[in-house]
Amino acid sequence: MNTGQSTGSASTSPAAARRVSRRVGAISPSATLAVDAQAKALKAAGRPVIGFGAGEPDFPTPAPIVEAAQQAAADPRNHRYSPGAGLPELREAVVRATERTDGVTVEPRQVLVTNGGKQAVYQTFATVLDPGDEVILPAPYWTTYPEAIRLAGAREVPVLAGADQGYLPTIAQLEAARTERTRAVLLCSPSNPTGAVWSPEQITELGRWALAHGIWVISDEIYQHLTYDGTPFTSVLSAVPELADTCVLLNGVAKTYAMTGWRVGWMIGPADIVAAASNLQSHLTSNVNNIAQRAAIAALDGPMDAVEEMRIAFDRRRRTIVEKLSAIEGFTVPVPEGAFYVFPDVTGVLGRTIGDTRVETSGDLAAAILKHAEVAIVPGEAFGAPGHLRFSYALADADLAEGVDRVAALLAR
Ligand code: PMP
Repeated sequence: MNTGQSTGSASTSPAAARRVSRRVGAISPSATLAVDAQAKALKAAGRPVIGFGAGEPDFPTPAPIVEAAQQAAADPRNHRYSPGAGLPELREAVVRATERTDGVTVEPRQVLVTNGGKQAVYQTFATVLDPGDEVILPAPYWTTYPEAIRLAGAREVPVLAGADQGYLPTIAQLEAARTERTRAVLLCSPSNPTGAVWSPEQITELGRWALAHGIWVISDEIYQHLTYDGTPFTSVLSAVPELADTCVLLNGVAKTYAMTGWRVGWMIGPADIVAAASNLQSHLTSNVNNIAQRAAIAALDGPMDAVEEMRIAFDRRRRTIVEKLSAIEGFTVPVPEGAFYVFPDVTGVLGRTIGDTRVETSGDLAAAILKHAEVAIVPGEAFGAPGHLRFSYALADADLAEGVDRVAALLAR
């Protein structure tokens, strides 16, 4: 076995010289998972850490969904391999849900059930991109997109829109980033990490622009049920139905139904793309866990009252956190209209010394806050937007209030 310290002939072999492939060696660890893990480890060690890092609801999965899974676990049909692209019943449930929420009609063969939305992201890029292709990526962006784009041999072209623009780029900015290599544009509305929601007009404009230039629209709709103040969710495919041949919708049960641990997502696209992605998945993971798929059917076909209760709780926390963060001098806080994140611009507090730490970047700031206030926050660097912090407000009201109070007290010193 090669221990990494071998000598002699092993160290001169090509395998020893380059232990990790270039492609995989270039991947950064997920910063959001890292912050969450750090917070959980400190908590396990007895520290009173408050974590704003997690990108997941803090609620248990609603009981009827859990009961459906319990029944499924007892049914031997679910103990076997099932069709790689997903249980037919789940693909049909996704079709119905997409009709209801997106106002878009698709066929079951256009749906591929994946191990969470994350696998849908990866497989979509792997299926539509070739080496040398470019993907226009509005920034701040969710940290997984650039890695998935690069794994496909392509390159992300970030287009940064700051707090002054509510974190939404204009079409003119996207157009300025377009080249003859542009193959796709990524849309994430409501957005992780900013909570920004594209308006129906902006989505229509984006869709028409992409259509005019033959660019794929990859639309991540995983937060579609979490919008506030009556802000509507708009699916790009309902706004511009002509995109049907060049659009992939990404979605899953994780955020809507508090099911992050169940690992069920899906991609919806033109039948040829879904068939190709399905071939890829057949060699990668085969079918998604049948019990989780049965739970997802119960989620999609079931009542939405538990979802609405969670949304109301998130909305309450959103108001609290926005109010409290806005009161901190040097923070600029656009009001998020969706998802469960708030993304202040913190450039106003950089350049100071906090505790024993000189804080030059938002990464330094997040580290200083974790060290001196025992509050875990993800720095903007993880989202292609240095100078910002991402707070998830999917945590208990009391913890949320105390956590922000601690940050405020630290920065007021
Ligand atoms: N898209 C976005 C924008 C997300 O924030 C996440 C979760 N952080 C996902 C997709 C993937 O979610 P999952 O794999 O848990 O379904």
